[in-house]
Amino acid sequence: MPIKVLAPELVSKIAAGEVIERPASAVKELIENSLDAGATQISVETQGGGIELIKVGDNGAGIPASEAELAFHRYATSKIGDIADLGNISSLGFRGEALPSIAAVAEVEILTQTSSDSIGSYMYLRKGDVVRRESRSRAQGTSITVRRLFRYFPVRLKFLKSANAENSHIAHVVSQYALAFPEVRFSLLLDKHLSLHTTGNGDLRDVVSQIYGLEVAQKLLKVTEASAFLGVTGLVSPPSLTRSNRSYLSFFVNQRWVRSPLLTRAAEEAYHGLLMDGKHPMAIINISLPAQEVDVNVHPTKAQVKFRHEQAVFAGVEKAIKEVLSRTPIATTKAVPFSATSWQEVASLRSQRQGMVSDSEPTFIAPLPALGLPVLRVLGQLANTYVIAEGPEGLYLIDQHAAHERILYDKILVQWSKKEVEVQGLLQPISCEFSPREEETLKANKDVLTQFGFAIEPFGDRSYLVRAVPALMLKTNIRETIGMLLDNLANKENPTPWEENVAESLACHSAIRAGQQLSNEEMRELIKQLEQAQQPRTCPHGRPTMIHLSSHQLEKEFGRTG
Ligand code: ADP
Ligand code: MG
Repeated sequence: MPIKVLAPELVSKIAAGEVIERPASAVKELIENSLDAGATQISVETQGGGIELIKVGDNGAGIPASEAELAFHRYATSKIGDIADLGNISSLGFRGEALPSIAAVAEVEILTQTSSDSIGSYMYLRKGDVVRRESRSRAQGTSITVRRLFRYFPVRLKFLKSANAENSHIAHVVSQYALAFPEVRFSLLLDKHLSLHTTGNGDLRDVVSQIYGLEVAQKLLKVTEASAFLGVTGLVSPPSLTRSNRSYLSFFVNQRWVRSPLLTRAAEEAYHGLLMDGKHPMAIINISLPAQEVDVNVHPTKAQVKFRHEQAVFAGVEKAIKEVLSRTPIATTKAVPFSATSWQEVASLRSQRQGMVSDSEPTFIAPLPALGLPVLRVLGQLANTYVIAEGPEGLYLIDQHAAHERILYDKILVQWSKKEVEVQGLLQPISCEFSPREEETLKANKDVLTQFGFAIEPFGDRSYLVRAVPALMLKTNIRETIGMLLDNLANKENPTPWEENVAESLACHSAIRAGQQLSNEEMRELIKQLEQAQQPRTCPHGRPTMIHLSSHQLEKEFGRTG
């Protein structure tokens, strides 16, 4: 549908109110627009808690050049046309308020291109007015950059929390959409740090693993329940895995993220009698039902919905979860300590290290039960393969290769996503002869390799000259590493996105090996960097980087406790 300004009588039927309260609200609206445009890749980047900069890029349908300006008019939307549509909304947006609301309180740049326009459009808006407009190309999709949010609205600014707290809201919003749309690839860069990255392979468990850590992801139970009336799908915690608050309950209605006391109660009811007082389950649940069954037009930010048949929804959700729980063999009421590491924990660890204690304001993100990887003290090296370290929670045996792989993997992906891969030109180019298959893979992935810093030129007859490589692989056998990399890229069965594939190969081949003696200084540096990693406890292939023996375990083993 083309973008049109809604008729006044329709506007008057729309739940009005403040749409952009804080940077995270703008992020939410922009992501929803990308999803509505059918994007399969969405990248979000923010700086200074989103106040300095928010940039959301997608590969969705784009906005036709003839409509780009109209998109910033209040109540201009391509998603509904008349009052009848209001009862049957299948898109996330429908009010045509987000873009004008954002543009009114910030400087906005948009670059967008559809598949049918030969050239895309670029606009620069200040306080809602278009101050520059030109034709510019882009791959199909849209990028919107929001700068200096609320600059002219000091009262609004005053109500915002620290950049860190705003970041945590933003991270929460992006995580929720990543959970709602496992089939979409999300990336989130907070102040140039890659905070979240999902594969878009459609597997909810993989997204959960990125957000809450591998251990949690492995423990969650799958819910799939379909009746004629509604479908309930997702993952829920077994009774042995609990949280001390409700912020690990995520509900989506037809993939719209909602806050719903009704759904919260339904989920908690399913665990009735299984959890200790004060403990709450984890759940990521999507409810699908016909659009006419839900009224999404009840709240200005669309965060709440009203069901036509509340009771039936409540019962359906409770039953679906109960059923899974009844199939879990041991319904124990003992809470297990949480030790998986997620980016949330690392973020909070990091902010504490920087002395930026987070606000006492009840943000969406819960106070975290335990920090992922505490500061560790290196004690020595075992068999030239493992680093022995101690922390406040006991003994850690760290696999030096796996740990270094994790560090390099994160580093190269961050560099790649910022388009700042450290490149090393070779004084003496290396000549390589590739097999036909290798050569095909090389040609097919030329851009990919260039993005990672490789400069490989043809030199006649399947011979090539390697003139530059990513700096981190300098110490490896370059021919061998490129060979492995090409093998990996050639493997079509491999569902991993290519950049992760490249990062994985590079990390694996550049990481210190088992059997290599390390100095104390080297070990300390390794551990320090591991502490900063997003998922220090697993290598990029998902294998553990460390074995942890807690003080409690040690005491038990030595018979010091009863
Ligand atoms: P709404 O989403 O309620 O329609 P918005 O103000 O968010 O209102 O957006 C206005 C219109 O601009 C949308 O209806 C859509 O046609 C277009 N639009 C906004 N963002 C995008 C995007 N990322 N990709 C394609 N079209 C977009
Ligand atoms: Mg919108």
